[in-house]
Amino acid sequence: MPDHRSDVDGARVLADLNALRGIGAYKTGVHRPTFSEPHMRSLEWLVQRLPEAALVPAIDGIGNVLGSSTKPGPKLLAGSHLESQNFAGWLDGPLGVVYALEAARLINPDPNANGAVEVAAWCDEEGHFGHFLGSRSYVGALTDDDIDAARDRSSGRTMRDALRDVGLAGRSRARAEPGRHIGYLEAHIEQGETLESGDLSIGVVTSIVGIWQYRITFSGEQNHAGTTRMGVRKDAGLALARFCVAIDDRFPRHCGPRTVWTTGRITLDPGAPSIIPGSAEMLFQIRDDDRDVIERLEELLRSMAAEVTAQGRCSVAVERLRTGAPAMMDAAFQRAIEAASATFAGGRSIRMPSGAGHDAQILATIMPAGMLFVPSIGGISHHWTENTDDADIVTGARVFVEACRRLLAG
Ligand SMILES: [Zn+2]
Repeated sequence: MPDHRSDVDGARVLADLNALRGIGAYKTGVHRPTFSEPHMRSLEWLVQRLPEAALVPAIDGIGNVLGSSTKPGPKLLAGSHLESQNFAGWLDGPLGVVYALEAARLINPDPNANGAVEVAAWCDEEGHFGHFLGSRSYVGALTDDDIDAARDRSSGRTMRDALRDVGLAGRSRARAEPGRHIGYLEAHIEQGETLESGDLSIGVVTSIVGIWQYRITFSGEQNHAGTTRMGVRKDAGLALARFCVAIDDRFPRHCGPRTVWTTGRITLDPGAPSIIPGSAEMLFQIRDDDRDVIERLEELLRSMAAEVTAQGRCSVAVERLRTGAPAMMDAAFQRAIEAASATFAGGRSIRMPSGAGHDAQILATIMPAGMLFVPSIGGISHHWTENTDDADIVTGARVFVEACRRLLAG
């Protein structure tokens, strides 16, 4: 079946994405951490584009950019983020913002198109200062105390100092107006290889995983690496290494089909070649879209820790640092994306969960939300080589705009 004609201006979408790639360029990607000079310039770039879509732009007190419409009729909120991970890719975030902008440019000034698309760029999705600070602020799930406590994980600069330095201190934070939006739609690169390996163009996101993060601390006895006999050692580092292996042995019997877990950082104290580590720490993460599965695994984790402690050499403490709720994407949004894919992507779409966190999971706590993915070449992301074929970018834009029209048409 031939694809239908779309009014999406593919060259304009690609030009916008490349303009953003030029702000904080690093090799073929970008380095645009939250509240850096290039990040602020990218927000300003968006502020200047929004009037083209008949939107009134504003940057709020936490660095969210929002474009509001005065057009009567239903309103759909759409967007993503403009800051990047350090020295990372050009599409992670900007793709969703530019698609939203393109949809707004086509739909908002058109008196024959029902309703309007309002555009958002959420601040700090990439977590330089915290977790989803911008979108959490918008849904009312971020307190001033949270902002007081937030610090840049690379530089240690406080969020308050950063907000003051970029001139946003004292501005009010925008809050979602109850009932204003029929929902939130976000496009993103897949950051995996499901689409590419299946020769597919569009991922229709069904759910976004919850991320639970832990600090697991092992306490033993620091001692001399030469004079302490093996039989009497209380080696916290060895206990930690065994624990990692035990997790990998035992989790598969209790996890779900797509559960993933990761030990992302290990620290030995004091961490010297001639000293038996007296304490050791690992940062550990579990992701799944089923809260019951994560709870079951946490229970297992705690019982495994209790077993090690009971053996008497080292004690283990498990502390949960982060409890991210999984989010289900709205059924009507999934149908709209699928129907749009049938028209503009030859039906080459698949329903799939998202293993990465996105602002849509925060918006989903207060309104219906949906997401679509476009393919990532080689599944690579959070790296400057991240890329997507231009043809896939344009197809994604056509599907996105069509999905917006369908949702606004009710
Ligand atoms: Zn992203």
